[in-house]
Parts: sequence; C-alpha cells; structure tokens
Amino acid sequence: MSKKILITPGDGIGQEVTSSAREVLDFLIGEHELDFDITQMDVGGTSYDKNGSPLPKEVLDEARKSDAILFGAVGGPQWDDLDWDSRPEQALLGLRKELELFANLRPAFLFNELAGASPIKDEIIKDLDILIVRELTGGIYFGEPRAIVSDESPPYAFNTMIYNEDEIKRIAKVAFESARKRDGKLCSVEKANVLEVSKFWRSVVSDMAKDYPDVELSHQLADNTAMQLVMNPNQFDVIVSSNLFGDILSDIAATLSGSIGMLPSASLNSSSQGMYEPCHGSAPDIAGQNIANPIAMIASLAMALRYSLDQKGLADKIDNAIKDFIKQGYRTKDISTNSEFVRTSEVASIIIGIMKNG
Ligand code: NAD
Repeated sequence: MSKKILITPGDGIGQEVTSSAREVLDFLIGEHELDFDITQMDVGGTSYDKNGSPLPKEVLDEARKSDAILFGAVGGPQWDDLDWDSRPEQALLGLRKELELFANLRPAFLFNELAGASPIKDEIIKDLDILIVRELTGGIYFGEPRAIVSDESPPYAFNTMIYNEDEIKRIAKVAFESARKRDGKLCSVEKANVLEVSKFWRSVVSDMAKDYPDVELSHQLADNTAMQLVMNPNQFDVIVSSNLFGDILSDIAATLSGSIGMLPSASLNSSSQGMYEPCHGSAPDIAGQNIANPIAMIASLAMALRYSLDQKGLADKIDNAIKDFIKQGYRTKDISTNSEFVRTSEVASIIIGIMKNG
C-alpha cells in the first residue's frame, strides 16, 4: 500500500538539510521501487511570509493524511517579534498537538571517531548509545490551571504538573517496547521523593513491568540522572521520563555527543504516524552558506523508514552508510578538526555512493 510522506523544509538550514534528505529518499525510491507519495509544503517563518500563517490549514490537512512528516527546523530573528500565534514555532507545536505526537524518541549516540568533539572525556563517552523517550503532550507544559497572578500582593505564578494513568501507560509502553528491541534495560526518571505526580508515575510504570519480564526496569531521581548522564552515561540503555524532565535530560544527552548536527529525533502517536526532525534548530548564523551538517536530517529519514514506513532494512542501510561516511573520514565543517570539509550539498551524494557500493 502506498505510504504518504510530507516534507516541510522550514526555515534557515532546515531547507538545506531537508534537500539532502530528499536526495537520499529519491535515490531509495528509485532503487527499491518504493510506492511512496511525497508532498513538499512550506511551514514556519517562510510560510508566514508567503501565506500569512506558520501552519496553514492545507499543511495541517496534508499532515493528518501522511504517515511520516520530515520536518526542517523553523525560526529566525526576522520573525522573533511576531505575535505568539504567528511565530514559526507554532508550526512545530501545532503539528505535535493536532497529531497527538505524545512520544518523543531522542537517540544520543557517539561515533567513536568523533569523541574529540565531545566535552566529556573519551573513556567515559566511548560507545555511547542511549535512547531517551520523553512524554511530549502532557505534564506541566500543558497542565491546567496555570497563571501569572499580578493583581495580588505579592504577585505570584503557578503551573500544574498532571499525568493520568493512561498518559503514563502509553509512554511507558513505547519505552518498554523500545528497550525490548535494544539492550533490554529501562530507567524511569522522576522526582518521586518530592512530587505526588512522580510517585504515581513510578507506581504505574512499576505495575507495567510484569508484562515485560525480559526488560530490566530501574527508577532514578531526575537530579541524579542529570549527574549520571555526565559521569557514567553508558549505564543507560533506554530512559523514559515526563515532558519537563525529559526535555532537560535529552538536551544533556545530545550535548554528550558533541555534535548537534548529527542527532535525529522522532515524535510518534499511537498509530505510528510520526514527525521526524533533527535535534538542532534553523541555525540562522550559518544559513545559506552550504556548510550545515545534514546528517541529523538524513538520520531522521532513517527513523521515519523504521517507525512509520515499514522499511527497517532501508533504515539500517542509511544508518550504516552514515557510519561509513564518518569512518571513511568525511567531515562537515562543524565536526572537522582542520580546514578541509565537505559541503552540505555534497553529503547526500557521498552517502548514496556508499549505499550503492554497500
Ligand atoms: P540552533 O540549533 O539552530 O543553533 C545552535 C548552534 O549550532 C549554532 O551555532 C548553529 O550554527 C549550530 N548548528 C545547529 N545545527 C547545525 C548543523 N546541522 N550543522 C552545523 N551547525 C549547526 O539553535 P538556536 O541558535 O538556539 O536557534 C536558532 C533558531 O532555531 C531559533 O529561531 C530557534 O527558535 C529555532 N529552533 C527551532 C527548532 C525546531 O524547529 N525544531 C529547534 C531549536 C531551535
């Protein structure tokens, strides 16, 4: 059956890196006669300039019908002063909300050849390979009531951290099943020592463990995990956490690898429909210079093939080609240790060449 893919290049380097991923995708479609139907549409600031909205209704309608969305980053200083509803980020938040993309999968891994780019000592970081599963549509970022109360003395503000059992179960299920496909270890992270919502989270996740006897479950407090990620990251296989703690922990984990241009992410709903994007932003400082690293976007395409497009073999093929790209010494500017580097527009054809010979 035909699979639908929506590509939204977005702003800044989003456009350059999605073009590289598109080249790889077009090659795979030709080589393997894939029945994929691809649509490309503007979102973010680029769409605001052309259509007056960062996420026009037609894009949202197309996204609803798509199995996978390849999302280039959005944003840039020229749109920073727009009203909240017109800002480029609304494209990202709107798609997450409308498609109920509750599970954010953030792999953090190191190519040992690039260990020098990590701020952490080589012996601690070597062979890093972690998956952080972050709850994305609930918790304190969305909890009600919330307010800044400025007409009382003293003024105050509050938010609500809330999770119901179903929300915890569905994200824990994604995490247990991911652990099952990896090294079988899951660490659930919260603050059960001080928060009722965390105590509840821990009890729900613990109850689910009996359905996954092949997965070794542990629990950790979020402040300890922040420290452990820096001191001994290789103790982790899969980490599952709430929206707030997962946000912080996944950025720490991404920093460990030292190269923001290398890390992909996936946000999935319960029908395996997903949005796939690099962890980095639109990098206005280097946009248009043909020096952005498109590997994170190409690796995001691999995640789309794995999780939403039923093409695990092709996902492995891309991941292996990326490993070989690094092994063979190719470096984009951000990860090069000397003055030589390959340009954004050259990367896809090198990766395709490696796949052809693989
Ligand atoms: P950023 O990730 O865009 O850039 C941070 C630094 O990393 C910059 O120096 C940039 O040049 C470098 N960098 C990032 N990706 C790179 C790549 N692929 N290759 C080489 N170098 C790369 O973060 P920022 O500067 O905080 O944000 C810039 C804009 O992006 C803002 O408007 C922000 O709102 C937006 N943003 C969007 C998303 C998203 O759409 N998912 C995520 C984060 C930031």
